[in-house]
Amino acid sequence: RTAIVLFTRDLRVHDHPALATACAAFDRVVPLYVLDPALAGRSPNRTRFLHQSLAALRDALRERGGDLVIRHGDPVAETIRLAGEVGAEGIGLSADVSRYARTRERRLRAECERHRLHLRLFPGLTIVDPGAVRPAGGDHYRVFTPYFRAWQGALWREESAPPDRVRLPERLTSGASPDGLPVGELPALPKGESPHAVPGGEAAARSRLAQWLPTVDRYGDIHDDLAGDATSRLSPYLRFGCLSPLELANRAGERAGDPGGARFGPFVRQLCWRDFYHQVTAAFPEIATKAYRRGATEDWRHDPEALDAWARGRTGLPIVDAGMRQLRAEGWMHNRARLITAGYLTKVLGLDWREGVAVFSRWLLDGDVANNAGNWQWVAGTGNDSRPHRGFNPVRQAGRFDPDGAYVRRWVKGGAPG
Ligand code: FAD
Repeated sequence: RTAIVLFTRDLRVHDHPALATACAAFDRVVPLYVLDPALAGRSPNRTRFLHQSLAALRDALRERGGDLVIRHGDPVAETIRLAGEVGAEGIGLSADVSRYARTRERRLRAECERHRLHLRLFPGLTIVDPGAVRPAGGDHYRVFTPYFRAWQGALWREESAPPDRVRLPERLTSGASPDGLPVGELPALPKGESPHAVPGGEAAARSRLAQWLPTVDRYGDIHDDLAGDATSRLSPYLRFGCLSPLELANRAGERAGDPGGARFGPFVRQLCWRDFYHQVTAAFPEIATKAYRRGATEDWRHDPEALDAWARGRTGLPIVDAGMRQLRAEGWMHNRARLITAGYLTKVLGLDWREGVAVFSRWLLDGDVANNAGNWQWVAGTGNDSRPHRGFNPVRQAGRFDPDGAYVRRWVKGGAPG
């Protein structure tokens, strides 16, 4: 019996419930990734990172005797077609929350029913499944603190072991795949836009994790210091699922020692924000386009020149320009700088948070609908902040989080030009 595991943004072999289950329950497993033209071209940085991550996944599968089938086209049509070619009975997929992913999931379910294929959805995108904890009388948590409390009390699933062996069907092991690209062959690595972007892939993720984890105990004290640059920088790997958030939370919790208290220390709390925005997005799929908060006032200015200067790191305000230049150079920005640059765009310039979402989405390696739009709406006061009208002063922020100006010097004075 044969199953297909359709990979999307879960590009790993460790703690991958769909892959582990398929390898345990079926004789043959076909790992598949479909390069979807509907998602192509949005962000050269992420496209490059994706291709690197696919190459790493293919290598990890090859080490286990398997391979990765890579197709181009509509993921639903390609999956059904491959199922016919290899005689698959089952399809496994990690559940996702964005509007696009859920439409894809629904279409795949309908096609599977038509072709009498068994589709099973698996957890793995978040630590606690979206919808697994709900407030009394509501379908999701609108405010973070009560969500964090409920999340801590939720039962976390067991981590899945990586499979020892991935057995492909004969037709695939014998060379080229029956149709389309040969098995495991990726197009040439596309160019990104940020010269200092980190490389994608599960091996790179695990090596960054090993390097960073020893500092997790100090995270609470140092994560907001812009120049200290002491956060994990694992977000791009979480974005593409090169690293399981559950595994990361478990390792961070164990490392911090005391299971009662430190399991939910400041770092794991940040991971909970990620889960939080995923459950918001599952309940409110319009998050990237519509104000989340009922009654939010939206009277944004239209000023393309100011927007462009902001996006290029040329506002003249050093702390804002530093953040935007880091974004362009690395495809990543420190969280505190994201708060400052986003606060400046929406609260000082009075420009629409959706314009900010679009600029971040072009550059960020970790850019995703839930976290990007969720955080932008929080900053703009249209989202989940229970104090939507809080003030914002970039100069005061610079004084607090870059007191000796080292971050600004790194990126503005003598740093990369905007
Ligand atoms: P760490 O401090 O090491 O935190 C560990 C992980 O926790 C992160 O990798 C991330 O997965 C999660 N996390 C931390 N803070 C947040 C948060 N506020 N919301 C959600 N998850 C969080 N994060 C994204 O992953 N993708 C985005 O597109 C994104 N857009 C943002 C836009 C704005 C305007 C703001 C203010 C924040 C945004 N964030 C986004 C959240 C946060 O800035 C990044 O997750 C973080 O800076 C990534 O760096 P790190 O991995 O070193 O984080």
